[in-house]
Amino acid sequence: MASTSVLGTCHHDCPDTCGWVATVEDGIAVKLRGNAEHTYSQGELCPKVNRFIDRVYSPDRILTPLIKSSGGFEAASWDDALALVAERWHATIDTYGGEAIALWWDAGTQGLLQESSLDKRLFAKMGTSRKTGGVCGVAAGWGAVVTDGTGKGADPANVVHSDLVVLWATNTRLTNRHLWPFVEKARANGATIVVIDPLRTITAESADWFIQPRPGTDVALMLAMMHVLIRDDHLDHDYIERYTTGFDQLAAHVAECTPEWAGAICGLDPAEIERLAAAYGQAKAAMLRTLIGAEHHSGGAMFFRALGCLPLLTGSWREPGGGLARSVGSWADSMIDFGAFDAPHLAPGPRRGINMNHLGRMLNDPDLDPPIKSVMAWNGNPVVTQPNANAWRTGLARDDVFVVVSEQFMTDTAAFADVIFPATTQLEQVDVVPSWGHLYVGWNEPAIAPQGGAVPNTELWRRLARAMGYTEPELFESDRDLLASAMPDVDLAELRRRGFMRLPLPDDHLPYAEGGFGGVDGRAEFVSTAFAADGVPALPTFTPPIEGPNSDLAERFPLALLSPKQHTRFLNSSYTHLPKHGPAEGGPFCEIHADDAAARGIAEGDPVRVYNDRGSLDLPARLSERVRPGVVAVPFGWWSADHAGQGGVNVLTNDGLTDWGGGVAYSETLVEVAAAG
Ligand code: SF4
Repeated sequence: MASTSVLGTCHHDCPDTCGWVATVEDGIAVKLRGNAEHTYSQGELCPKVNRFIDRVYSPDRILTPLIKSSGGFEAASWDDALALVAERWHATIDTYGGEAIALWWDAGTQGLLQESSLDKRLFAKMGTSRKTGGVCGVAAGWGAVVTDGTGKGADPANVVHSDLVVLWATNTRLTNRHLWPFVEKARANGATIVVIDPLRTITAESADWFIQPRPGTDVALMLAMMHVLIRDDHLDHDYIERYTTGFDQLAAHVAECTPEWAGAICGLDPAEIERLAAAYGQAKAAMLRTLIGAEHHSGGAMFFRALGCLPLLTGSWREPGGGLARSVGSWADSMIDFGAFDAPHLAPGPRRGINMNHLGRMLNDPDLDPPIKSVMAWNGNPVVTQPNANAWRTGLARDDVFVVVSEQFMTDTAAFADVIFPATTQLEQVDVVPSWGHLYVGWNEPAIAPQGGAVPNTELWRRLARAMGYTEPELFESDRDLLASAMPDVDLAELRRRGFMRLPLPDDHLPYAEGGFGGVDGRAEFVSTAFAADGVPALPTFTPPIEGPNSDLAERFPLALLSPKQHTRFLNSSYTHLPKHGPAEGGPFCEIHADDAAARGIAEGDPVRVYNDRGSLDLPARLSERVRPGVVAVPFGWWSADHAGQGGVNVLTNDGLTDWGGGVAYSETLVEVAAAG
């Protein structure tokens, strides 16, 4: 029996980007384990991906093109499916213009090639609308850039050198599990671990100190910390003088932002805020760690803008283990040319941008010109993952909207498709996977042949380009040539042989130890010169949640809804439907504080209706101390079938945009809960 080991890299929307080793016998993958050589993930996969082979060989895989008919879906040949899509797209372009075709994709498959590469060229050639905005990362990135000018943060692995670790709005043990050993190492060296989160997560349970502010009030807490740092002179005056601008204005701005002021907003004891600020100011190497959860508020970008001011005041950027560690994805531009796949010269003219978070709304907009007549979706399941999901459902259900989906399984979104193309899994496709959680890039060698008629996304784009009758050579470049063009200075053969490679950055990567920020004169900006010119608050500023307790909606919907990732076997909406994943997690529920439950006559396990003007869900109640009074939580990731056809938690959530950058405020949602049945 021929047995080989094939090195690969996990592609999921997860910061850990683990290296793996697939064991293949006679062309069949029989084992998948973490790559013990991988410097960051160190040989461990997670409970989701440990069973990835079950997913690859699942009997529910879509392995042939499917065309919707009056009786459901029928298997079709690739030629027939491509011809149908090309015919409909040409007709749409001829009648309405290319912008009547809208695109949606996300990070369900991360990787240079399979996330977004040749699609950029195909859809430029077609003149479709462009996808803009982002569910995750966009608002955070913009907020960080406003303060530091680059958006580039500290290496999270440096947390081992910290004496204070503040995990702010990030459930590290669940969603960034491979960082947790680094955090524990810091604790073993004497560090204090603080978790700040509106939900008592499993990470909060493991912390030395848990602080639970009201949702969406973090910026007020940060401003009060700045107030204390300045008042008590926990400052690195030399650092501030050399590398920042606007300190005097900031000091005047936060003079009124006392712990008492913030305590009333955040629902915290002012003494606790004093203690937190003092601990932060007195630490030698305090590491602030956050990821993407906090950006899902109307003030989501401001969260990152304000957080970035704290290490500037204390000068903790000088220290290994200091600074602010958020997504490190943009450091990959030291190895990868992310513009290599762009081909604007192919486009017939300027192309309309559609924020992916508002595509659901726009599908229902009778005044949109041109109207959306077709949607192409890949690498995700927007009917489950996008907020205001009922807008997606009604929009995709329209008879005059031609929906094309590339998928591995019959997801809630694929069920709305007119044509489904079968997509390969990561074991069946080549890719290079940059990470947003560490400083290594991974190679993914295909371990097995594509199953059935499934193809990688890059091959789908080539086939569609051919079916559309296009001939430009850029549309048909091979995967290996695409990688070479994006990574011209990288020895790809060596990357393939080793399976991963560190970005060309120093081992003791301290990006701002001696300044080097991206603002005016290479400084970080307490006062944003660009924002001042645009009429946006130039200083970090707390703005109450738009859909919050002070809004008119709160009279009818007084409870703040959180929709956390909290299942160890789910990855966003992936795996939910697989037998060893969804059923093992038990089913969705609504967590509610005992005080709120008692006020509504609700007991543990009672059926309740969670509702607002966007939708409703009938769920069992779970009385919980994990949420504060005034806050409820319904876990994210379940499909419609798991909610008895009602849709997932996103039928309730807010699709209002964030302050800058086009992110979405789905954690800023008000609901009411009532006994049902
Ligand atoms: S989902 Fe994340 S933790 Fe799990 S194997 Fe993939 S990269 Fe690693």
